[in-house]
Amino acid sequence: EKLRETLLAHIHDVPDYPKPGVMFKDITPLLADAKAFGLLTDTFAELCERLGATKVVGLEARGFILGAPAAVRAGIGFIPVRKAGKLPGACLAQSYELEYGTAEIEMHADAVGPGDRVLVIDDVLATGGTAEAALQLIRRAGAEVAGVAVLMELGFLDGRRRLAEGLGDAPLEAL
Ligand code: IMP
Repeated sequence: EKLRETLLAHIHDVPDYPKPGVMFKDITPLLADAKAFGLLTDTFAELCERLGATKVVGLEARGFILGAPAAVRAGIGFIPVRKAGKLPGACLAQSYELEYGTAEIEMHADAVGPGDRVLVIDDVLATGGTAEAALQLIRRAGAEVAGVAVLMELGFLDGRRRLAEGLGDAPLEAL
């Protein structure tokens, strides 16, 4: 339909970036187009409302760009989840496994809590490691998971399966 067509027309495939063999999905043309970015923002905001979300968690860095305007439009707060060492307050930290090695993300410990329903927003779901760790942070903070919403899901990497346990009954929406 129209949403999918508009989004696809503004996402560019960049071969061999950031390293050989990787097909990078570049969303900067989408951000530069007010109509397309507005349509995307409306769609994420409607999802917030449909799922009864009380907060949006955006994943560094493109999850900030997509999540923040959607939260504003839905009338709810925005919470950044960042790579370790970037947030100034007391944090919860969660490490997760990469193909080679581990990574760690953090969220302010008081950012969400009991009574919150949190929607996680990011641009690309690849292996699902980042989003899975974010779901763990949200649950450890005592909040409920409303769902995960991404612009694109790279299905061949099986991120959906990795998220199944963390999601429980909550949906994974890939636009
Ligand atoms: P995952 O943890 O393996 O699911 O990787 C997801 C993270 O990597 C997201 O925050 C994405 O922004 C980033 N990412 C992975 N592949 C791509 C890509 O092709 N284009 C843009 N971002 C990507």
